[in-house]
Amino acid sequence: MIISVTNQKGGVAKTTTAINLSAGLALEGYKVLLIDTDPQANVTRVCIHPEIEVPLEKSLYNVIVNLAHLSSVIRKTNFPNLQIVPGHIRLSSIDLELAQAFDNRNERLKRALEKVKDQFDYIIIDTPPSLGVLTINAFAASDKLLVPVSTGFFALTGLVQLQETINMIRQTQLNPELDILGVLCTFSDYTNVSRDVEKQLRQHFGDQVFKTTIPRNIKLEEAHSNHTNIFGYAPSSAGASAYKALVKEVLSR
Ligand code: ADP
Ligand code: MG
Repeated sequence: MIISVTNQKGGVAKTTTAINLSAGLALEGYKVLLIDTDPQANVTRVCIHPEIEVPLEKSLYNVIVNLAHLSSVIRKTNFPNLQIVPGHIRLSSIDLELAQAFDNRNERLKRALEKVKDQFDYIIIDTPPSLGVLTINAFAASDKLLVPVSTGFFALTGLVQLQETINMIRQTQLNPELDILGVLCTFSDYTNVSRDVEKQLRQHFGDQVFKTTIPRNIKLEEAHSNHTNIFGYAPSSAGASAYKALVKEVLSR
């Protein structure tokens, strides 16, 4: 199953969710590939030793632009069952670089994945907060979308846009079956705003909203700066229990 973690808003815990969902699935014994399509390359920064600089030709860039074989850029992490495809800052110019490439530029990731997807139980794709070639490639390649929504005041802006994007991807035949696996409430706390937003999301999306909500928990951020995931950094934290519960829910859907 290929799942993109996505929302056109930044700072909603897409990357945090992609990393910890991947790690949680890997801990359950599933073979997981985590793909970093965000030019900010935060997944790459967290999962690869800080002193290792990933060369351009060993990153997703080479796969999308030069059609390199995906297996030539897949790397082990120091977490069992979890491998990654590193991103690269150069991905930020990919919309321009592919502007003249009319041959299936939106399906390059999908085609690259076709050759390796049998080797993995789950492929998780972290996406940038914008609708460019990379996000379209991610959507075209995915079976499902997982949408983190931060339960703050501006949470609901962006969701209409996301729905329009999904419709566009379906209608253009890039991926007629694309669907939402679930909406995930993140940064939840006991403030009225957070509770209100969660209530509105449940009214609007019904059962599509995961029962699990991710609380604000500083350990999740500390895990990133320690170049690991929450299960490696603080396995008994509230953040770890929440992501563990999310993993269970994802497995049951
Ligand atoms: P996105 O990928 O959507 O931009 P990130 O996953 O990078 O969002 O999260 C934005 C920031 O918030 C990061 O610094 C991250 O470490 C922090 N963060 C994410 N989830 C939580 C949480 N539940 N509690 C506290 N901090 C969080
Ligand atoms: Mg991110």
